[in-house]
Amino acid sequence: MAKDAHEDEPFSQKLRVPEALTFDDVLLRPKESRVEPDEADLTSRVSKNVELPVPVLSAAMDTVTEADMGIAMARNGGLGVIHRNLDVDEMTAHVERVKRADELIIRDVVTAQPEQTVEEVDEMMEREGVNGAPVVDEENRVLGIISGTDIRPYLEVGEQDRVSEAMTEEVITAPKGVTAREGLELMYEHKIERVPIVDEDDRLIGLVTMQGILQRREYDNAARDDDGRLIAGAAVGPFEVDRAVAADEAGADVLFIDCAHAHNLNVIDSAREIKQNVSADVVVGNIGTKEAAEDLVDFADGLKVGIGPGSICTTRVVSGSGMPQITAVSEVADVAQRHDVPVIADGGIRYSGDAIKAIAAGADAVMLGSYFAGTDEAPGRVVTMQGKKYKQYRGMGSVGAMQSGDGQRYLKDDDEDEEYVPEGVEAATPYKGPLAKELHQLVGGMQSGMGYVGAETIPEFKERSEFVRVSAAGQTESHAHDVLITDEAPNYSPDGN
Ligand code: 5GP
Repeated sequence: MAKDAHEDEPFSQKLRVPEALTFDDVLLRPKESRVEPDEADLTSRVSKNVELPVPVLSAAMDTVTEADMGIAMARNGGLGVIHRNLDVDEMTAHVERVKRADELIIRDVVTAQPEQTVEEVDEMMEREGVNGAPVVDEENRVLGIISGTDIRPYLEVGEQDRVSEAMTEEVITAPKGVTAREGLELMYEHKIERVPIVDEDDRLIGLVTMQGILQRREYDNAARDDDGRLIAGAAVGPFEVDRAVAADEAGADVLFIDCAHAHNLNVIDSAREIKQNVSADVVVGNIGTKEAAEDLVDFADGLKVGIGPGSICTTRVVSGSGMPQITAVSEVADVAQRHDVPVIADGGIRYSGDAIKAIAAGADAVMLGSYFAGTDEAPGRVVTMQGKKYKQYRGMGSVGAMQSGDGQRYLKDDDEDEEYVPEGVEAATPYKGPLAKELHQLVGGMQSGMGYVGAETIPEFKERSEFVRVSAAGQTESHAHDVLITDEAPNYSPDGN
């Protein structure tokens, strides 16, 4: 390890300290602009190979992100990071649900065999929730297609008749590279609702349905991979090579090494090993200093910043250690920029203004927990207390989360007899309704920030934006003041909820 710079200096020297700033300490300096906020383009990278239309991530927490949140985030252009307080199998099932949600080509096709009876296939389709199935031989070659309309009683097909007698034999198929538009054209032309996708030998490899295509059209700003599937993220513990490999095989596009202090050299060694074993991008975090960034940039595909800014986090008071978030982001970004590694600002974001300030400080994307924990898509149910609706929100280093998981995030011993030393609290957060509404406010506010600075794109914004330092009086002036708020605004409350 390197010799500490201050080793031979008197202790009093330690008190000549640099200042570290956070969101409320700074504001963006307004600048000349022709940019209308709704023209501002938020597209940005979250890791070396993954770009998002909306560079916003939902936190890898058991009260924030499972499959429902992952699907909703990606459909709206962002990214959900599935938490790791789950068995590996449960977790990969969540990743797979996200990847499959809006798939153009369904790979897991429900098929029928020619010698089955109409009754059997009818029952199977009902059980699987599909209205039709390609009929295939033992070698998976497409022989026909059978749909609900083929087996209705008025067509004089008996329940015990074979599928081969009831199916439509002239099947319209398409090759692997079919686009949504081509699929739709085929369906309109032939008045059909599903097209089997086949390889050169006529073997079934997938299915495209009308319903699937129309659903994708609804989300025209979604974050998708090259095959048109939604982008998925998954958290893995720093020493969980098996979980990382499983999440990678399940199709996760980005893995997040999820650790409270990633500038731990054992964590770095293990993260490096994980990176060598997966094809997904690997983001490493959390860190908060330039020294940590320097030790990670040679292999990490992204760096996640945040030592103690989180709303449910008590790391700074429990451990006496941390870095105010704006300074932390800018230190890490100084190093990351030189190596072309994207930076994610994680934690402490209460308002859209905080999110865009994080980007001005050098982040490429932001991660939020409390902001999304109250939405319908977050796990957990809505409870009513004193007439107001809430959902549970807890730190992953809280006693409750550590008891229900492996307690590894905060590097605690697994010894069950030992009492935990938590670095997070368990809380309730106001219920907020659908995620899309919340995200709309967040994105709108961020675009507004870009408008004030006169930047149309994120790279331009990062270059053009400047900060001013805000005094305590300036902070008071920033919030609604000297009034009694009578109607709730959709994007503001004095305490950040
Ligand atoms: P929020 O958006 O609620 O301010 O912060 C969410 C972030 O807090 C998470 O993405 C994660 O980095 C961090 N976090 C989650 N649980 C804990 C915890 O128990 N302790 C600490 N120190 N940080 C946490």
